[in-house]
Amino acid sequence: MKRVQLEELTTKEFEAAGFKAAIVPIGSCESHGDHMPFGTDAIASHALAVRIAEQLEQTVVLPPNYLGMSGHYRHKPMCVTVSADTHIRIIRDVLESLHHWGIERVLLLNGHDGNIPSAEIGARDIKIAHPEMSIAAIDWWVILNQMLPKDTFEVWSGWGHAGEVETSLGLTLFPELMNMAEARGQVPTVDPFVKEIWLFEEITAYGASGAPRRGTVEKGEKIVAAVLDYMIPYMQRFEQRGLVYDPQDEPIR
Ligand SMILES: [Zn+2]
Repeated sequence: MKRVQLEELTTKEFEAAGFKAAIVPIGSCESHGDHMPFGTDAIASHALAVRIAEQLEQTVVLPPNYLGMSGHYRHKPMCVTVSADTHIRIIRDVLESLHHWGIERVLLLNGHDGNIPSAEIGARDIKIAHPEMSIAAIDWWVILNQMLPKDTFEVWSGWGHAGEVETSLGLTLFPELMNMAEARGQVPTVDPFVKEIWLFEEITAYGASGAPRRGTVEKGEKIVAAVLDYMIPYMQRFEQRGLVYDPQDEPIR
């Protein structure tokens, strides 16, 4: 398999590869219950990014960012968070570095809820500063609604922090770091549409929400396949053309 991880390349190898695009995996460091590792969000987004990039021609994967905005998960050890302001700066600085070296097509592949606002703000700042850049962002789990049948998951549509979906993904991507004997979660009554600003200790007694015991390797394989099936064609276009919107006047009847 060809090498796509920036941290494994030498300068000459990087230059010879002629990368046109980059994927930036974004994660965090906080409790994922007693059955998943602290680095789950970074490990998962990085593993998905590598699998996507291996199917592309000229896309490099940056080292995963293990520190995200996790203040709302701070009640359990060992939460290590950066502020939202810092996280915006990290996103901006990473995008500026890529721009400096001529990589102007960048996908932010996010694995953590707390990074959603900061990733978007940082990306918008850099798009405004460098309009020639093509910048896209995805939270990998949103793809599942589109790509998997509704009955794929059993409880709460699979959602939750270290819940059914994330646990399944962990069992598939990093089974050696999982301890299913300790899997426990709770399903809170949060509204599905209104953005309710909770602290994690308000919605579960554990470091996990949702139904982690329903996690299985089979579901994890479906999740990986769904993410790859959606993102590989998207990234093939993105890598070769960047974002092209081709707006048309409304059709005349
Ligand atoms: Zn997570």
